[in-house]
Amino acid sequence: MPRAICLLSGGLDSATCLAVARRDGFETYALSFDYGQRHRQELAAAERVAAHLGAHAHRVARIDLRVFGGSALTDDIAVPKHRSAAEMGAGIPVTYVPARNTIFLSFALAWAEVVAAETIFIGVNAVDYSGYPDCRPAFIHAFEQMANLATKAGVEGRTKLSIRTPLLELTKAGIIHLGRSAGVDFALTHSCYDPAPDGRPCGQCDSCLLRAKGFAEAGVADPLLA
Ligand code: ZN
Repeated sequence: MPRAICLLSGGLDSATCLAVARRDGFETYALSFDYGQRHRQELAAAERVAAHLGAHAHRVARIDLRVFGGSALTDDIAVPKHRSAAEMGAGIPVTYVPARNTIFLSFALAWAEVVAAETIFIGVNAVDYSGYPDCRPAFIHAFEQMANLATKAGVEGRTKLSIRTPLLELTKAGIIHLGRSAGVDFALTHSCYDPAPDGRPCGQCDSCLLRAKGFAEAGVADPLLA
């Protein structure tokens, strides 16, 4: 069984990505990050999702991105609420975490080399895209090229690493359909940037609004709100 590293935040995109990797016949190695994010709910969600989708292993790497801050997710900056689609589409939001996907993919690359995985799955999306530069296809392609120059496995020609982005061209509704068909239980996922202390989503941040729009367009009820 080929092995794949799957970046898993606990949100519905990364859960769908992990389910697709499993459906496509990979033994999955799920990787989450305790990076100093504002709340712990997403790590709890990642743990639930990894168990539910039968990840062969699930690791949480601890890296403290609060040493730099610079994001509403890692610093004392308010999470924007009630933004319209036009506002979300205009520029890079304060919830962008500087260089996050570069950092996460670098950790995934290190684990891939250790377990001899040739594939990394990441749930980036360029459609319902919140303006994050490190979700663009050009970035993913460049990272893949770099990865094959950077590792012992790549240089010795033993493995050719590829990065799979099965959600890249999908709308949020498309992701929800794909996730359902691949066996995701969305009740286990967490999307909110600013949940209540008991974990309930705020319903007002960009992530909650995009999730709600996706479920509405998919014609499916969000089990988190049931
Ligand atoms: Zn929210």
